[in-house]
Amino acid sequence: MRYNSLAVSRVSKSKLNLLDSAGNNSVNLDMLIEKAMSGTVEYSITVEETTFDGVPSYTQTELEEGNVNSVAMITSGRSKTTLHTHVKNPAKGHTFTGPSGNDLLVLLKQHYGDLPPSKKLNDSYMLAYDGSVYVLHIYDNAAAQLFFDNLVATGGYYDSSGNPILNSENHFADDTRLFEYYDYAYEKLYKEIWGYSKDDAHDAAMAYILRGSGVKLLKRMPEQEEFKQYDTETLTTPKGKVKGVKSTKCK
Ligand SMILES: [Zn+2]
Repeated sequence: MRYNSLAVSRVSKSKLNLLDSAGNNSVNLDMLIEKAMSGTVEYSITVEETTFDGVPSYTQTELEEGNVNSVAMITSGRSKTTLHTHVKNPAKGHTFTGPSGNDLLVLLKQHYGDLPPSKKLNDSYMLAYDGSVYVLHIYDNAAAQLFFDNLVATGGYYDSSGNPILNSENHFADDTRLFEYYDYAYEKLYKEIWGYSKDDAHDAAMAYILRGSGVKLLKRMPEQEEFKQYDTETLTTPKGKVKGVKSTKCK
């Protein structure tokens, strides 16, 4: 399939390359949502950009089929956006709807790492089994480059072949700093103090570790048109002492 424009939507004052909800492009999103909700394995598609005479056009790759836990994302130097599904895994007690640590590590590696070269890739879409859609969106290239160089590239997140090193949940390995930050935010801040559900606590904890990283987490609830951004807010006392951090829920 070939189409000529990617709609750009304004979401929380940031530009985001979205597949158009009204035009031809939406077939990808709807088809993948359907696969996420009814499928038993994960699927992925990549949107590629080609520029001819200064005019960009977009194509999508063939649907890639994975297993219940993961799917390959086929990227090249022309890749613009990747999309993949999150299906329910009956073997697990709970499957998170939102992005895994793996999803973040793959996006960063694809954009800033040396393998494979996908410098245009700013967005990774996740279509979840409950009908919600998530986007990890690189909005500040310089900040994301620093986040990758200073924390991720040297933090023991990838093996010698450049593949993410993960725990059994497809998440950051347990002895890494990102897992420490995540685990604190998930268990303490959001489940215990704020009383969030597992999925909401997971999403908020991912937003928490992404503070200042140049990468945003956005979510569109089922049946909604708009993507909303997870914002993190530092809570201070009247004297300016930091009390904690709260992530707003995307609802
Ligand atoms: Zn994923």
